[in-house]
Amino acid sequence: MVRVYAIASAKGGVGKTTTTANLGATLAGTGADVVVIDGDIGMANLGAALGVRPHGATLHDALSGDVEPVAAAYEGPAGVTVVPGDTSLEAFSAADPQQLHGVVEAFDDADFVLIDVGAGVSHETSVPLSVADAVLLVSTAERDALVDTEKTRQLTERLGGVVAGAVLTRTDEATPVEEIISGTLTADVLTTIPEDEAVRESIAVGEPLVSYAPHSDAAAAYRRLVTELTGIE
Ligand code: ADP
Ligand code: MG
Repeated sequence: MVRVYAIASAKGGVGKTTTTANLGATLAGTGADVVVIDGDIGMANLGAALGVRPHGATLHDALSGDVEPVAAAYEGPAGVTVVPGDTSLEAFSAADPQQLHGVVEAFDDADFVLIDVGAGVSHETSVPLSVADAVLLVSTAERDALVDTEKTRQLTERLGGVVAGAVLTRTDEATPVEEIISGTLTADVLTTIPEDEAVRESIAVGEPLVSYAPHSDAAAAYRRLVTELTGIE
């Protein structure tokens, strides 16, 4: 049975897209059939992070009912299937976020579907939280980010969704993980992803860490995340 995760936080710039791309590629590397969807319909950048430039239909065409969702699926790196978005304002206006339900259903023969969620609290960002089987919260250890991520956790609860846990990104040895667990963000921290230059470089060249820098600390951290989240070793 397919397992659907939304990768979410109300705070922008905390590593949601990075985590969706690398969790997706790392999971695909274990032999799982993985689809990643760019659910950030206002600021689509998941496709670029994985080096996929759509030459035809995008998620936005599927959300506006112009094409079947599978027509917007592209083969990405490391065997991951990517459903990229359109970066134009016109496409944004025509897209109906509610249609994400049908898009996710179209990939129900995959093992995992990961949805990269946009920042903010809105209808667009709420739909993925209820479409998913579970929500993976992403935050840096900064107070503002934690406060905003806690809001996403509460919103998920209100929508009847389930929180799988949290990932803390861009951490260093001084990051007070214990304090964070018992403080602002009421979620289990599954894994911390260290600040790592390889992450920025890999995103810039549009390649996941599994192939760009498999021996980096961040690549190892994403492998731990796969195990914590799915039990796959
Ligand atoms: P979001 O999708 O939450 O807006 P992104 O995934 O786009 O955030 O990440 C924001 C920025 O942080 C990007 O420039 C990305 O390369 C950088 N980044 C994310 N995780 C790390 C990390 N572990 N180490 C270094 N830079 C990171
Ligand atoms: Mg993003």
